[in-house]
Amino acid sequence: MIKEIHIARHHGFCMGVKRAINIAQETAEKTEGKVTILNEIVHNEAVVERFRSQGVGQAFSVEEVEGGTLIISAHGIAPDVIRRAEAKGLNVVDATCPLVTVIYDIIKKVVPQGYYIIHYGDRNHDETEGVVGYAPDKITVVSSPDELPSLPAWTDRKLGLTVQTTSEMAKAEEFKKAAQEKWPHIEIFDTICNATNKRQSAILSLAPHMDMMLVVGSKSSANSTRLAKISNELCGRGYLINSADDVHEEWFSEHPEIEKIGLSAGASTPDFLVEAVVQKLVEFSGGTAQVILPEKKQRIRNVAKSAG
Ligand code: SF4
Repeated sequence: MIKEIHIARHHGFCMGVKRAINIAQETAEKTEGKVTILNEIVHNEAVVERFRSQGVGQAFSVEEVEGGTLIISAHGIAPDVIRRAEAKGLNVVDATCPLVTVIYDIIKKVVPQGYYIIHYGDRNHDETEGVVGYAPDKITVVSSPDELPSLPAWTDRKLGLTVQTTSEMAKAEEFKKAAQEKWPHIEIFDTICNATNKRQSAILSLAPHMDMMLVVGSKSSANSTRLAKISNELCGRGYLINSADDVHEEWFSEHPEIEKIGLSAGASTPDFLVEAVVQKLVEFSGGTAQVILPEKKQRIRNVAKSAG
């Protein structure tokens, strides 16, 4: 029976996501003519749907967009895509997160100095595609240390390592060590973002003490899926859920030993989705579960009344 619901100290919207949503919202409200978002403004279905319902278009390539304003998502985009959009006469509004731009700036600085870049990241993620676009001939994307043996020693090359902003910290550390063993001369640029760091650290301290961990976020969100994966490794029952609809009463009626539930959310998950999950868990407990908030660990708030 659910007795405690512990909210992770750091969860939900990060600076880059809030900023991108605000830029897109303001653009949608103040711009005349058609407004289109390239890809997903952030990787969350509820947020994407909100813009769709306001009449904002969505496209997956510049070629699909007939005219008007094109918003670049928080994950960024290759510079060539922006050039093509501008050449078509589109008004480009860039909502790329400044912490993704940090990677672009490193590449723009060191590649002209003769560096080649090893970029550790997910090959098909929007962010990786954007990063590669800044120096397609000088960047090699690597997703795992297992791929290193097949790469050359490159003793004659200046090498730099950049890391996808939302990488799993432990895996990225493992990769950095393996890369330094293979290329002792490689220069490390630590580009995991602070929001990722904080959200993963909060899971590391919470999950080992929980009977179940729930992470609210979309499957398309790299940082949410990583939080769920780490949660599962640490507590044995870690699940990624899209919304409260994915939380089922049988989980708890069939497993009365589940008493403490940890709750987190990816950097692109709105608060209202997390609040709905809390309400549902409290309902499943018969209104008796206590919600333990991250701000003041000792303060326990009984939300039975607010759950109605
Ligand atoms: S997760 Fe990090 S890089 Fe991505 S939008 Fe948020 S702050 Fe920016």
